[in-house]
Amino acid sequence: MATERYMVMDVALCHDCNNCFMACTDEHADNDWAPYQAPMPWHGHRWMDILRHERGENDRIDVAFLAKPCFQCGDSAPCAKAAGGAVKTRGDGIVEIYLDAAKGKDLTKDCPYGSIWWNEEAQLPQKCDFCAHLLDNPSWEHGVPRCVHSCPTGALKFYTEEPAAFAKRVEAEGLSAYKPMDGATPHVWYKNLHRFTKNFVTGGVLRGYDWAEGVEVTLEGAGVKQTQKTTAFGEYKFDGLEDGDYTLTAEGKTLATVSLKGASVDAGDATL
Ligand code: SF4
Ligand code: SF4
Repeated sequence: MATERYMVMDVALCHDCNNCFMACTDEHADNDWAPYQAPMPWHGHRWMDILRHERGENDRIDVAFLAKPCFQCGDSAPCAKAAGGAVKTRGDGIVEIYLDAAKGKDLTKDCPYGSIWWNEEAQLPQKCDFCAHLLDNPSWEHGVPRCVHSCPTGALKFYTEEPAAFAKRVEAEGLSAYKPMDGATPHVWYKNLHRFTKNFVTGGVLRGYDWAEGVEVTLEGAGVKQTQKTTAFGEYKFDGLEDGDYTLTAEGKTLATVSLKGASVDAGDATL
């Protein structure tokens, strides 16, 4: 079986440094990689876009960043369907926009993720292609796209492997696709995606006037039951939760009952 290309991003490791975005711009702006890509405009395009998501309330909040290139969704993708042959999937899974065939075709509305950008000067739709011009060049010694090579925290990883091997990786590492479409075969996957797509319940536990460290707190509801110990600051945080009603208990006492409805909740402080 032939190998395909896959990008994996760990949401928990991204600090919004924008190195991936800068490396992409450095690679493509002013550089003509025909027949792969026409030069990217210096401004306005974000082939590697970094989305921001804040969760929580009061002072119990967090923020997560999701680096979003084209997901390389395969031939059933709406961009390919709309392009009339100008967008095709290569044998390694990379979805390419063919320059000659795509001239004058504005496909920006045909990607549900907003991953196609219009180049007015070249009269071309453009998007990430996993730096196919580098991957196809044996003298590119790193063997991965520029953005992956530039990531200082290791949040971006790149794999060239058979689909069956990657499916095992998805299972073993708990990877997810972001808003996958029916019939699509995305080649960009995420670790810790719950920080973008799910919510948490947090709160604090006091014993007398002091934060209570090491108290076993149990969360139960919506088909889950989880237990964790409070931190040195007396806090707990149950993450990756679906919407529903939850009860928090510790040492036989109810700390709080909360209802998650599309947003994370600070259950407040409770005294044992
Ligand atoms: S992410 Fe958008 S541009 Fe990329 S393959 Fe999917 S539908 Fe097409
Ligand atoms: S793979 Fe290449 S084209 Fe795609 S976002 Fe990264 S640097 Fe840009």
